[in-house]
Amino acid sequence: MEELTRRFLAHFEQHYGQPFPADPYEQLRLAILAVFHSWNNDRAIAYREREKIPHDLGTAVNVQAMVYGNMGDDSGTGVAFTRNPATGAKEIYGEYLMNAQGEDVVAGVRTPVPIAELARENAAIYQQFADVCRILEEHYRDMMDIEFTIERGRLFILQCRVGKRTGAAAVKIAVDMANEGLISREEALSRVTPEQLDQVLHPQIDPNAALTVIARGLNASPGAASGIAVFDAATAVRLGKGGQGQQIILVRPETNPDDLRGMLASEGILTERGGMTSHAALVARGFGIPAVVGCEAIHVDVERREFHVDGRVVREGDEITIDGTTGRVILGRVALLPPSLTGEFGELLRWADAVRRLGVRTNADTPEDTERAVEFGAEGIGLCRTEHMFFAEGRRPIVQQMILAAPEAKAAQATVARLEAEREKADGAHRAHLEEELRQARAAAEEPTARYQGALDRLLPFQREDFVGIFRALGGRPCTIRLIDPPLHEFLPSREQLLEQVITLRATEPTSPQLAEAERLLTAVENLHEQNPMLGLRGCRLSILYPEIVTMQVTAIFQAAVEVQKSGIPVRPEIMIPLVGHVNELRVLREQLEATARQVMAEAGVEIDYQFGTMIEVPRAALTADEIARYAEFFSFGTNDLTQTVFGYSRDDAEGKFLYAYLERKILPSNPFETLDAAGVGKLMQLAVEAARAVNPTIKLGICGEHGGDPESIALCHRIGLDYVSCSPFRVPVARLAAARAALSVAGPADK
Ligand code: PEP
Ligand code: MG
Repeated sequence: MEELTRRFLAHFEQHYGQPFPADPYEQLRLAILAVFHSWNNDRAIAYREREKIPHDLGTAVNVQAMVYGNMGDDSGTGVAFTRNPATGAKEIYGEYLMNAQGEDVVAGVRTPVPIAELARENAAIYQQFADVCRILEEHYRDMMDIEFTIERGRLFILQCRVGKRTGAAAVKIAVDMANEGLISREEALSRVTPEQLDQVLHPQIDPNAALTVIARGLNASPGAASGIAVFDAATAVRLGKGGQGQQIILVRPETNPDDLRGMLASEGILTERGGMTSHAALVARGFGIPAVVGCEAIHVDVERREFHVDGRVVREGDEITIDGTTGRVILGRVALLPPSLTGEFGELLRWADAVRRLGVRTNADTPEDTERAVEFGAEGIGLCRTEHMFFAEGRRPIVQQMILAAPEAKAAQATVARLEAEREKADGAHRAHLEEELRQARAAAEEPTARYQGALDRLLPFQREDFVGIFRALGGRPCTIRLIDPPLHEFLPSREQLLEQVITLRATEPTSPQLAEAERLLTAVENLHEQNPMLGLRGCRLSILYPEIVTMQVTAIFQAAVEVQKSGIPVRPEIMIPLVGHVNELRVLREQLEATARQVMAEAGVEIDYQFGTMIEVPRAALTADEIARYAEFFSFGTNDLTQTVFGYSRDDAEGKFLYAYLERKILPSNPFETLDAAGVGKLMQLAVEAARAVNPTIKLGICGEHGGDPESIALCHRIGLDYVSCSPFRVPVARLAAARAALSVAGPADK
């Protein structure tokens, strides 16, 4: 001990440039300063960034007399929660160690004993502790995390704070406490953050999957995760989330606060040592990262970047799966299943539904996604991207045929139209000559036109079947269907791919039909090439040039609607025209497509309750919302494109090129493609909302960009008075809660 002390004093002097002070007041002063300085260490900064805590908030220091848990076998120390922080069960949950200090418990160096053991070992102290738990919980009206020390048989409470908990525990505790009368339902809603709810939606391991379980540890933080094993935090940061974006599992002997950034970059955490209150367990639970800790069957060798278990070696880069719900460690990747939403989860969401004003719809384009979203509480589809159906199995060749034939057909038809116009003005011999030319042009137009129409005719039944499935899954709920949007080249192979194919085929099979086909596709891709395809021939522009495609889509939609409605399920299609920037685009397309819709309904003798509307995705549409609203029963803000066009940032490239640097240097407060930019995009949306409602008070307004599932953006949508948000099926429960919390914070200061 003397040698250790001497070395420590020397280390101090070297590090701080002054000897360790002998004056206790000076020691205290330096200790206090050390706490203040800790505000700006790397792990504190990482924590605040993750938790969105302002960096200028500052901290406080509390000075207390010390008690000692390492004064013999009648002393000890521990950490306990007033309820189970993993499941939310109403039971005192924690661990302690006799003859030890707090550091020994949290550092995970010694594996502590469950608190229930204390009840046997020292019933009086346990009872006293249980009473303190009850008093503190009733006082703070929340689940508390309590640190205690027993010094020579006497219990001291060192500190208590609101306990960190898993998403599942947050939901159960909030619902239980509301049912116990400790808090109101509104408080319960404000207690569960959307991030915590999101955790409950973590996928679980398929119980029927064949697994190679190689070890078992403590199930410290629920959910399953697969990824490559990585053995230190720096590598995790480099390879994981925010770095190369690989899925990784951080494997450590134990973790300490310096590992925080690496832990946040990981899908899951596995430690050899440490209990349920170890650093790894607490951090993982708090951030919703699946974790298995105290897995003593494995031996982690950080130097060699591998771990050993039962004679088996798992090296850095090998794939493993951890199941934080059961504590299993599994070799390789594993099939995961979506979670089920019952019990307290369902109850909390029903309370949310009673409070929220915003509707919640889903973005879905298959019957399966629709069904899942409806199970999660979606009130309809807010965005069905019809072109996704073009990518399905067996359809691509037909779509490619359509794309190849369409420009040829259009060019040939344009020649016919030009000759017809010329002929009207011509006379005599010239007219006769034109007649002949026209006859030839008409004949030349026939083949590509037939090919184009032929492809559309073959696509129509596919689209119709898709919609039949979706309408059935919706069971009468509304369905916003967005007509074809992306530029046509997206349905073709890339230019590079085709070039490679053509070059190879020319060398190996110069007369093959595959070569002719590849060459035709290559020509088409080159003809469709644009410098800025996202600002090019897409959305309604494509529909105006090639109206036959959307006519086919609307025919398919209404034929499907007729079929499903005839079977007794009402159908409410809402036809949405994308990327409108000028009212005339919507006016012309609506006129044409509404005529098609009427024709299908008239032929079937069935009336469908339909609407027409548009997306607001470019600034001009937002600025002229009053003009556009005259031709639309609804608007849906396509905030992916709207963010792109308002900022002038490419949604496909910005993140990789400069956006992360902007975020790091705090040029932007958050990624505008994730969280709506309130001051710019949000302001423009508000302008459009007001302008649209002024001319069309019944217009329905929603959002279907990715922001529709982001809690902060949902709050903005609530504030500017949208009618609904739409997001991916798995975000639907989160959106229901976020919408309720938005309503509560507007009504009163219930939200933090
Ligand atoms: C949008 O732009 O926000 C949108 C929903 O459409 P997409 O993402 O398909 O362009
Ligand atoms: Mg868009």
